[in-house]
Amino acid sequence: MTHQHNRTCAACRQRPAWAARWICVPCYLALREDLHGLVGDYRWLGECMVLLPPSWRTSSIRAFRTETPIPFDARMSLQRDRITETLAYWARMVVEAKRPRPWPPHDVTVEATAPWLTTQLGWIVRQEAAGDFDREIRGLRVDTDRVAPRELEWRSLPLPCPRCGQLALSHNGGLVACRRGGCGHAMTLGEYHQLEDEIAAALAERRQAQDA
Ligand SMILES: [Zn+2]
Ligand SMILES: [Zn+2]
Repeated sequence: MTHQHNRTCAACRQRPAWAARWICVPCYLALREDLHGLVGDYRWLGECMVLLPPSWRTSSIRAFRTETPIPFDARMSLQRDRITETLAYWARMVVEAKRPRPWPPHDVTVEATAPWLTTQLGWIVRQEAAGDFDREIRGLRVDTDRVAPRELEWRSLPLPCPRCGQLALSHNGGLVACRRGGCGHAMTLGEYHQLEDEIAAALAERRQAQDA
């Protein structure tokens, strides 16, 4: 029995599926985009997880042989593991089920499995599991955005860090944090502006003293 001609897309459950596939054309294109996007998500989580404003901090680890705590968010590390494991799982499924058996990805890193799965996508969407695959890939992207929203992209600030003295302060619109590994100083943008005022006042005072 075949439902090939009146099958509904297993991803959006609205549009008709594309010929012998289990999903429609727009969902296929979105899925390909999401697979590609997971490589960037993985890197982005890595950037975010080592330096976070205090409100994000769910746990901290101590740098080996130093007493300086490194801000560290376990949720981002876990999300990275989930991306790696989910892609490796699906790659293994394809290798086991597809005939002739394809060469597996050369390793289980996201950089290897995501593009490899993209090359297998034409076959995957012809399998009944296509809907599950789509949901899991989309779920990973949604969860990444929840754990580490993109609007928290950091921009550099001109003043040195009041704790370590390095030009390493950045802000994400509201929060300011030192990006130097091992420092972990964080403050609000209001506190940063206060620091600016203090430095400006100190400079004005020095100038006055020189003029006198
Ligand atoms: Zn669809
Ligand atoms: Zn610092």
